[in-house]
Amino acid sequence: MRLGTTFNFIVILLILALGDGYFCKPAMAQDSSQDSSSKPYDPLKAVYANLDHLKAYAQGFALMQKGELREAEPLMSRILQFRPENPAAMQNYGFLLLRLGKFEEAIKILNRALQLDPGQVPAWGNLGGAYASLGKIDDAVSAYKKYIELSKNDPQIDVYKSMVTILEDQAKRQSAYPEESKDDYYIDAISFKGKMNWPLGKNPIRVYVEPGDGKQDYKPLYMDLLKKAFWEWSQASNDKIKFVFQNESGGAQIYCRWTDSTENLIARAEGGHAKVEYAGPVIGRSDITLLSISPCRAMPMNEQFAHRIYLHEIGHALGILGHSRNSNDSLFCGVNLSIVDGKLSDRDKKTLYLLYQNQLAPQVVSAEVKKRCEKNYGELVVFAEKAVNRGELEAADDLYGRALKQLLPFGFRDVRLATVLSRSGSLSLQMKKMLDAEITLRAAFNLMDSNDATDPEQFASCCKDLGNFYWQNKEKSEAKFYFERSLNLFKKLKRDAEVSELERSLKECL
Ligand SMILES: [Zn+2]
Repeated sequence: MRLGTTFNFIVILLILALGDGYFCKPAMAQDSSQDSSSKPYDPLKAVYANLDHLKAYAQGFALMQKGELREAEPLMSRILQFRPENPAAMQNYGFLLLRLGKFEEAIKILNRALQLDPGQVPAWGNLGGAYASLGKIDDAVSAYKKYIELSKNDPQIDVYKSMVTILEDQAKRQSAYPEESKDDYYIDAISFKGKMNWPLGKNPIRVYVEPGDGKQDYKPLYMDLLKKAFWEWSQASNDKIKFVFQNESGGAQIYCRWTDSTENLIARAEGGHAKVEYAGPVIGRSDITLLSISPCRAMPMNEQFAHRIYLHEIGHALGILGHSRNSNDSLFCGVNLSIVDGKLSDRDKKTLYLLYQNQLAPQVVSAEVKKRCEKNYGELVVFAEKAVNRGELEAADDLYGRALKQLLPFGFRDVRLATVLSRSGSLSLQMKKMLDAEITLRAAFNLMDSNDATDPEQFASCCKDLGNFYWQNKEKSEAKFYFERSLNLFKKLKRDAEVSELERSLKECL
């Protein structure tokens, strides 16, 4: 049954893209500019005035390179008074405005740089970033394409190419759903592969964060920022989604790690990515990979940047699979290049709420539809069990998959959903469909772990199957976690045969 599906998901937070060519050297005074006042022209005075502006601009440029952008702005803006016709200086000032989040102004200045000199290549890249930040996707794509055309030797050209891919993909999705709500981006969040989420209930979602020690440019502070970002999402859900950080990787439901190699990311430009695995409507596991280094040399990885990437990736890991069209949202499809610190917008919060609301209150369907689904479900399960007894595992798996669909109107609290997933996962394991087995069993586990009404016997078998799966995969710490859970459940049920079998398995894990 095609219950288990993996969904690789790219994220891109980044764009930003300033390679070495991204800003130009400070514009140098070439000749004195004419004083427009009616006083007799004093060449010396004009030179001094110019020198004054030039000094200020150079100071501003140095501050920008150090990352002190707000301080740089009043100094660099003096370029408008003394060298408004210098394309390189206009490009640098436009880049600064972009970083300050003044996108409209940046576009004006960058276009001016390009009018003065269409060969002012970095301006095309920055213009792409500014348009993308305003959600003007077509303009952003043309500007990026122009940059790619003009700078074939840029070693970071793949960053731009992957941005184009992502923006074009977003444009396609937007054309499928041209109407967007003002208050949320739910339609974009789920339009990728349908809706799926984490079962919420008695237990928090277990998160393991592999420390990034030893990775290039990694700082222990990033661990705190990541945990803070998890906390912010939890707050946004009014504490309905809870996380617990565990010290061991075994049994983790969200696994986070850092990498210092862009090779490990799905696309070159990514600041990170999240891989979400799900069976039916239930997430089984999410893996978040984050860059410890900056994907582009001219823009260092720093606190604000890291925090924005972390909020974005956690959003994906929670089931917001698509992107927002608005650069104020954490799940924005491009990169907000500004230095403004990231925070969850009201639209982020509303989208999360809509994603999880049906789970809290089952879908509203008529009594008649519910009755029909119940009946279909009952019949399909009977057929599935008969097929298992005949040893027709494929057929049984398919029947369980169809039974699962009948349960969707009843919500996540309905224990039958977990039972069907658990049986299906067990069949996948017997048929050696390892990927399906893992995802489906984990989804079943998540449902049962969060529900007080879970059947302990079914839960114990699901844990045992998961233990066996990881044991066969030689993942000892995972195997140990699930064998222990299974052992405790079987002990309570006083099932001696299972208990001694699991004790033997656990000994082998140690
Ligand atoms: Zn993303």
